[in-house]
Amino acid sequence: MKLIAGNWKMFKGPRETREFCAAFSTPAGVDAVLCPPFVSLPAAVESGHTVFAQNVHWADDGAFTGEISAPMLLELGVSGAIVGHSERRQYFGETDETVARRTVAALRHGLRVIACVGESLEERESGQMDLVLRLQVETIADVAGAEEGLAIAYEPVWAIGTGQTATPEQAREVHAFIKSLLDVPVLYGGSVKPDNAEELLSQEGVDGALVGGASLDVESFTAICQAAAT
Ligand code: PEP
Repeated sequence: MKLIAGNWKMFKGPRETREFCAAFSTPAGVDAVLCPPFVSLPAAVESGHTVFAQNVHWADDGAFTGEISAPMLLELGVSGAIVGHSERRQYFGETDETVARRTVAALRHGLRVIACVGESLEERESGQMDLVLRLQVETIADVAGAEEGLAIAYEPVWAIGTGQTATPEQAREVHAFIKSLLDVPVLYGGSVKPDNAEELLSQEGVDGALVGGASLDVESFTAICQAAAT
């Protein structure tokens, strides 16, 4: 079954979350996950949908202002977390090492994890893509291994929020490369929309999608989930 995760980023407080959740139902044959901001997690969990956080810290508690731990998420009924999103890496100093620490701590507590990797345009064009992806994936693989509950999201940074997607061939190629390093489900992310979802999701090695912008609207997120179920 394909995993379709909607990363809402810093959109939708509790009221809008309740509205979305009331209007959304997961199509049969797909594992649909909603990833709202931290403050909206209780509202999303109450709706009965599967809910992931957008980040999780490696410690159970401690002096880490602004962070949230795995036990706190579990207490709310949250099922998993995204870690290492490129926006966290780009704007908040997340590194391969911190991503790996967050991943392994969350898995040990029984949370599912979507760990994000992906190259920038500059890295792709200068021929460094394989090296960058290898480092990102192997740092996670070294500590977590191919553990149950772990998925990688391949999100080329140049495709996130830009309307540009990897071609189906590019996605196939990179997903195969990632799986050769760590044999877990690999999701594609980067401007997935209702009109390109079916083609991307039907590629070999594409086990689902991490959807940003198009996950904010119930109809478009539902359409993407339906494309995954076919
Ligand atoms: C994302 O936020 O992970 C993402 C892929 O965003 P978008 O679908 O808007 O490109």
